[in-house]
Order: sequence, then structure tokens, then C-alpha cells
Amino acid sequence: MTKKQHNFAAETGRILELLTHSIYSNKEIFLRELISNSSDAIDKARLKALTDTTFLGDDTNFEIKVEINEKNKTLSITDNGIGMTEDEMHKHLGTIAKSGTKEFMEKLEKAKEGGDHNLIGQFGVGFYSAFMVADKVEVVTRSGLDKKAHKWISDGKSGYEVEETKKEGRGTVVTLYMGEGNHELLTDWKVRELIKKYSNYVGVPIMMLENDTRSEEEKKKEPKELGFEQVNETKPIWKKSKTSVKAEEYKDFYSQVSMDFNAPLGHIHSSIEWNVSYNTLLYIPQETNAFSDMRDPSKEYGPKLYVQNVLILEHAKELLPVWLRFVSGVVETTDLPLNISREMLQSNATLETIKKSLVKKVVGELKKLRVKDAVAYGKFFENYGAILKEGVYYEADLKEDIAATLEFDTLLGDKKISLDGYIEAQKGEGKTIYYISGKSRSEVLASPYLAQFKDTKTDVILFTDAIDEWMIGVLDEYKKVKLKSVTASDIKLKEETAEEKKKAETTEKQFKDMLELVKNTIGTEKIEKVELNPNLWDALGALKTPDGAMNPQMEKMMKAMGQPVPETKRVLELNPNNKLVKAMKKEFKSDVKSKKLKDLTQYAYMQAILLEWGELENIADFVGMTNKFAGEYLK
Ligand code: ADP
Repeated sequence: MTKKQHNFAAETGRILELLTHSIYSNKEIFLRELISNSSDAIDKARLKALTDTTFLGDDTNFEIKVEINEKNKTLSITDNGIGMTEDEMHKHLGTIAKSGTKEFMEKLEKAKEGGDHNLIGQFGVGFYSAFMVADKVEVVTRSGLDKKAHKWISDGKSGYEVEETKKEGRGTVVTLYMGEGNHELLTDWKVRELIKKYSNYVGVPIMMLENDTRSEEEKKKEPKELGFEQVNETKPIWKKSKTSVKAEEYKDFYSQVSMDFNAPLGHIHSSIEWNVSYNTLLYIPQETNAFSDMRDPSKEYGPKLYVQNVLILEHAKELLPVWLRFVSGVVETTDLPLNISREMLQSNATLETIKKSLVKKVVGELKKLRVKDAVAYGKFFENYGAILKEGVYYEADLKEDIAATLEFDTLLGDKKISLDGYIEAQKGEGKTIYYISGKSRSEVLASPYLAQFKDTKTDVILFTDAIDEWMIGVLDEYKKVKLKSVTASDIKLKEETAEEKKKAETTEKQFKDMLELVKNTIGTEKIEKVELNPNLWDALGALKTPDGAMNPQMEKMMKAMGQPVPETKRVLELNPNNKLVKAMKKEFKSDVKSKKLKDLTQYAYMQAILLEWGELENIADFVGMTNKFAGEYLK
């Protein structure tokens, strides 16, 4: 039999160097990584057996064995999983086969600075963590599809050797020759502790030799053949009763399924037996996950799907809508056939039923969590709220339920509030949810549309997420309370006093003819009427949308969707206190046909369009005119 020497792929060498020399203080996770590989290999063997009924042969009792050999100073992890062919061994253990290698290197470097200890498992360099504790690693493996077995040996430095070898049965044995400083990892209690700490919920029995606690003398007197015993939990956590699972166990399992090592916001653990039966344990995160950013819509998402104890899918996106892509966990059902194909899963009635029920549960849980711990929920919402809002847009039947879980900034408050909170706080009878939408908080707060709201201390919800416009497009009322944009022309929050009324009438009289001319100059196809509004802060004017017409946000959204947008006429309000409006009036008096008046009219209109975040027909005209005014200013 020949031994062949191979070099590691370039990045692998560098990662090994980094792993073994610098970053990692918590080296004991190597065992978790190797056990997790064994458990994956067993999942793959189970899955393979669904389509290839002879694949398993007699070897159907799946388990992982962890053995200590004190004499040789080795620790070995044995599984009867899918095993590897020679090619697979080169591919999987000779290179870091992940496309994200470069990205990984960068994160690894960063983590080195920040002291992040949970990187390794998250990036699938799992196997190489063996070199943090071992001077030499030996892998003997035989694929279930191959008669030949192979041995891979490496010191984790420049490369590895591969040779053919003999092995009974399918599976893999990884043997670690422990380095000088790591011999404490060769004690029975220590290894058991590590298994319990990091691998308790692996869905496969992890076996160790029984521990013979008798004295050496007794052992000699009465030698006993020791059997193997299971070290980890037998029952998967999601199959246990809620009352028997400790908070810590929930958290541990969360990090295992999500690769997020922060505490989750909450979880849903339930067992349903109705028209479909399933067990589920789902988690809602709180923090973002630096290595698997679930805000990214292109990421794989969805809970693990088990059918009769076989892991069918790592990410079953058939079980959750994309707007709940941040939810992770497990769903297990016995109501699906084991040999179901990926294509069949895509339009499967059982999964649809489970999905509907999961969505309801998650939305219900979010509502509860909001009330339970506002601060934690606030963190979650900051990270994932924008995704949740997509749900309002996509789920016609559930939109109010989803909307109830949302939080918003408002004009008057310094804390985010819910729509219910807004309605509750609003005084008076006929209630309305007023909102303003724009790109950022600071932008909307400067809008003169808010003048009358500030004056009357009427709160306004600030919609500043990009998704908000889509959301309001479908949410015109919430619990029978209308949502109304501050740009609506019929919002009059304050009754005028008799004196104010009189004053307004006089001013209106003075301006009346000019306003008519302004309307005709801009065009009656665009402007329904021109009015005065002295309460626009220092703005020249503002456009308002008449009742029943499409507001500018909706218009923009329809355009973005490529739909025809009907021309809507607006109401133009001019501010009689503004200098330029005063100048317009003066011009009007001296010469109705004045070019200056025409220019100022167009300028006022363009400014008003900008204030409602609309699009100018001709930006150059606007810039030209602004320069002209600036010229006056500089004189
Ligand atoms: P990851 O497990 O994240 O893919 P690893 O570096 O831990 O990354 O392992 C690389 C690959 O080596 C695995 O994806 C798998 O294909 C293979 N492998 C590792 N351990 C085993 C094992 N015990 N049985 C079969 N294949 C394995």
C-alpha cells in the first residue's frame, strides 16, 4: 500500500496557522466540532437510506463512540455515518471547501482583535479545530458506497498523507494524538463534562466506556468487561415537556441551531396534535448574528425539518414565510412520508398547514414578548423590525396582527410606540392615525407639514424605513382607525378663533386674484386649487392631497411597481408670511403679466414638490432659479 503526501490548499494552511497559534483560547470546543461532524454524517446516512434501501445493511444502530486511550495518549471519535471516499477526503479535509473562505479569513482576523470565541463552528472549519489540541490527527474512513477504506494523517502543518487501509463497516474514526499540554483532556470525567456541556442535544447517542470506579486492587481481583453507556440526553429537547426543560437548556440548544451565541428574545415550544401532528421548538433572536445575517434575504432560512427522527432538511423554508426568516429552530412531524422529495415539499398540504399554524404562533408570541420586556423587544425590533414589516405587505389576512407587533418613532415621544399605544394616547373622539413618511427621522422632523401637529400637540407616526411606504400602501386602517398622511388637505386640527378667522378672510381677499393666477400658471391639470396657509414654518408653500386622491407615497410605489399612475390634482398652499410670497403679491399688483411673478410661481411650486419628496420635472430649472436668487443675496 502506498502512502501519498499532499499539501493543504493555500487558505487551509493559513487558517490552520491562525487556529493553532493565535486566536483560540477556548480550545475545548474541538470535541463539539468533531461530534457535530459525526452527527451530520449519521444524518446523511439516514437520508441516503431513504432512497437506497440496501445502503445501511445490518448497521442500522446509529451512535457516536468517544474513547480514551491513556497509554497512547489518544482520543478517538467513531461514527457509523456516511463515511468518505478517497476523493471526498481530499475535498473535505484537504481544502476548506467553503466559498466564503476569504470572508472567513477577514472575520477571523477581526475576531482576533475583538476576542470573539465562537467563530470556529460557525464557519465550518470545525474539523481543523482538532489541531488546537492534537499534534497529529488520523482519520480512517469508509464510505457506505465504497469497499475500500482510507487513512488520512496530518500534523496540521504543511500537508497530509493518504493511504488505503482496512476498516470494518461504514463510517469514520477520528483519532487525536493529544499534544503535551493537553493531556488533561484524556480523563474520563473531563470528556463527559465536555460532551454534556457542548453536545448534550445532538440527536444521536454518544457512547463512552462505562466508568469503573473501583480501586485498582479491586479491579485486579475481579476483572470486569466494561460496556458502553450513553452520555448525552436521549430525548431531543423539542420532544420533552416544557416543564422539564431548563432555561439554560433552551439557550444551549438555541446556539446549536442558530449559531447565535447571544440569548434569544424568546422561544415557542409546542406539541400539536390536531389535523396534523408536529412538535416544534422555534426561537426568535434578539441580537444580530454576525456570521449569518438573517436580515439578508438571500440567506437560507427556516427550521430544521425532521420526519420520524430523520433530518430531512437543514433549512425548511417551506415552513416559514420569508418575513420570518430570522426565526430558527426545529419542526418534527410524523405526518409526512420519509421518502418525500424536495420538489414534493414545495407544494405539500401538510407543510402548508404547519406553516400557517407556525406563523400564527410566532406572531402571537411576538405580541406577548413586546409586553413582557419592552427593552429586549426594542433591541429585537431594531434588528429585525424592518423584516417583520414585510409581513404586513405580504399577508392580507394577518396584516393587522402583524402590525400589532410593530413599533414606531413619533413626533412627540422619545420612545417607540405601537399602533395600539398611539391610538390609546390620542385624545378626543374620532380617532385617526396620522403619519409622515420620508427617508430619515431628521428629514421628516424638519417638514413644515408637521407645523399644525406640533402646535396642537397631536402626535404623528414617523415612517422612515424603506419598507414603510409599501406597508402603508396596504394598511389604510388599523382596528378600524384610519391611517392618514399629514399631507392630506383636509386636516384642520384647530378651530380658528373669530379674530383669526377675520384676519384670514382679509388676507385671503388680498390674495384671491393672485391665487387664481398662480393656479392657472401652474396648470389646472396639476392643481385643483391654491390656498393660503400661514402655518408652514418658513416654507414657501406645500402641496396637499385632496380627500380620496392618491397620496404621493402611493404614487411613488405604483410607479416603482410599473403600474400606470392616474394624474392626481393637488392643493397648493402658499405661506403668506413668506418673503417670496409677499414679493409675488407685490409683483401681481404692479404687473399681472410680470416675468418675475411667473418665475416665482414656478419656483414656489417646485419647492412644494420637493417638500413632499416628489420628483421635479426639470431639476436644471430649479437650480437655475436658485442661483438667480443666490445672486441677489450676494449683491
Ligand atoms: P463542516 O462540518 O462545517 O462542513 P468541517 O471542516 O468540520 O466543516 O468538515 C468538512 C467536511 O468533512 C464535512 O462537511 C464533511 O463532508 C466531512 N467530514 C468531516 N467529518 C466527517 C465524518 N465524521 N464523517 C463523514 N464526513 C465528515
